[in-house]
Amino acid sequence: MKILITGADGFIGSHLTEMLVTQGHEIIALSQYNSFNNWGWLEDVNCKSKIKVLAGDIRDPHYCKYITKDVDIIFHLAALIAIPYSYVAPDSYVDTNIKGTLNICQAAKENGNIRLIHTSTSEVYGTAQYVPIDENHPMQPQSPYSATKIAADAMAMSFYNAFGLPVTIARPFNTYGPRMHPDDGRVVSNFIVRALRGEPLAVYGDGNQTRSFCYVDDLVKALITFMGSEPGFTGPVNLGNPSEFTIKDLAQQVISLTGSTSKIAYGALPEDDPKQRQPDISLAQKALDWQPEIPLDTGLPKTIEYFKQILGD
Ligand code: UDP
Repeated sequence: MKILITGADGFIGSHLTEMLVTQGHEIIALSQYNSFNNWGWLEDVNCKSKIKVLAGDIRDPHYCKYITKDVDIIFHLAALIAIPYSYVAPDSYVDTNIKGTLNICQAAKENGNIRLIHTSTSEVYGTAQYVPIDENHPMQPQSPYSATKIAADAMAMSFYNAFGLPVTIARPFNTYGPRMHPDDGRVVSNFIVRALRGEPLAVYGDGNQTRSFCYVDDLVKALITFMGSEPGFTGPVNLGNPSEFTIKDLAQQVISLTGSTSKIAYGALPEDDPKQRQPDISLAQKALDWQPEIPLDTGLPKTIEYFKQILGD
């Protein structure tokens, strides 16, 4: 199949690109245009010579129409994702996440009702009202980022409801793995980077809050599984690994796996920090026959190896 991946230059998009190439698909990989001609994580993939990379921007509807011509399926992952930046630059999140999604939906519709697999985020649920979080959990926009992703999901869904565009919405939870950004502020990357540098691991609060971490390869397999599902299957579908770990245990595990001399430093818990964020993945298990296979004690060492390489330790 000829597949367009928007956001192919990002953490998850670059892994999706690699896995689809190994399955023999023809990939058009969209990287956000910049004047440095840098293709983000696509610079790092092992299949650079086998893909067609386009540099552009989903904010431009003309461009979206142009890049979706003659493709069989679209994976839409392009988005602005940094929550703190969304507090100070919300307009750009509206433009990329909402209008960009509209442009992709419209282009998919006009170019022959191309199947669209749209990527959402567990951030749309906000602080859990109950766990495990299923797809019926209320949407709670706790940041402009989250608000724009809720709107983007609704936009994609509206194209199914109004025009019959085959849309499926994937909703990942706490994905980790190689090519996470060392400064993304997430707990896995923060802990690994600090442990490798011998710096204290900052555990917020008492560290008894839990998270459920999904290795990126598991997520990518789920995204690919959508290609074989019924086009009328819209979702949204939670994708994650329900196994829970306390943040304190995660810190200890990272210290021991890296052989670091780092200690744990307990600090203040951010306001509204959720006690738990555990996905209910029964829908994915039933509808996609998918479930995560890579436990934390396998995925974490792979992620640590990656950080060792990029940090030169
Ligand atoms: N956390 C921490 N130290 C860090 C980064 C995060 O203790 O350096 C905690 C954070 O307070 C939260 C958990 O780890 O309870 C997961 O944080 P992350 O931002 O990775 O994911 P999210 O809270 O969005 O699920």
